[in-house]
Amino acid sequence: MDIQNNLKEVLADLPLNVKLVAVSKFHPVEMIEEAYKAGQRIFGESKVQELSDKYEKLPKDIEWHFIGHLQTNKVKYIAPFVAMIHAVDTYKLLVEINKQASKANRIIPCLLEIHIAKEESKYGFTFNSCKEMLAAGEWKELTNIRIEGIMGMATNTDDETQIEKEFKSLKEFFTELKNLYFKDEDSFREISMGMSHDYPIAVRSGSTMVRIGSKIFGERIY
Ligand SMILES: *Cc1c(COP(=O)(O)O)cnc(C)c1O
Repeated sequence: MDIQNNLKEVLADLPLNVKLVAVSKFHPVEMIEEAYKAGQRIFGESKVQELSDKYEKLPKDIEWHFIGHLQTNKVKYIAPFVAMIHAVDTYKLLVEINKQASKANRIIPCLLEIHIAKEESKYGFTFNSCKEMLAAGEWKELTNIRIEGIMGMATNTDDETQIEKEFKSLKEFFTELKNLYFKDEDSFREISMGMSHDYPIAVRSGSTMVRIGSKIFGERIY
C-alpha cells in the first residue's frame, strides 16, 4: 500500500477549495504517520474509543474529524480536542455537544447530517426535519457549537446519475439553508460529500470537503 502515492493521486483530483478528510478508521497509527509525513493533517474517524487512542499517540497538530454516528453519552470524550463533528443528526446531540464544548471551553464546528440516499437509515435529518429544527431557532442559543454546513452520503450504487442527483440535491439544500438561516455567516460554508467511490461526482456537484478512506489506506479489515 503506497499511502503517499495514493494521497498524491487523490489530491491531484481535488480543486484547491476542496478539503480532504483522510478517513483512517480501522487503520493503525503507523499508516496515519505515513500520510502525516506526506503533509496530510485532517483525518476522519468514526469510533470514539479509537479516535481517543489515536489522538493520544499522534502529533497534536492533526485536525481530527469525527465522521460517524455519535452517541450523546460519548460526546464528552472527544469534546476537548475534536476539530469537527460531521454527522449531527438530532437537536438533542447538538445540545449535548454544546454542553461538553462549554465544559472544555471551546466552540466545536458541526455539520448537520442529511439523509439523501435511497437506503433506509436511522440516521440523518430529512430536508424537512432539518428546516424545522433551524426554523425553531433554539439552536441560536447554543454558543459553544457552530453549524458550519451539512453532510450527506449518496446511495451505494453504480448508477452515477442517481448519485449525482442526490449530491446536487444536497448542494441545493445547502444554498437554501444559507439563504434562510446563515446569510451573514461566512462560517456556514461546508458541504461534506464524496467518498472513495463517488468523490469525483461529489466534487463536480459542489462538495467542499471529501471523506476518503480506502482509496488512500486500502481496504479496511473489520
Ligand atoms: C468510512 C467512511 C468514509 C470513507 O469511506 P471510503 O469508501 O473508504 O472512502 C466516508 N464517510 C463516512 C461517513 C464513513 O463512515
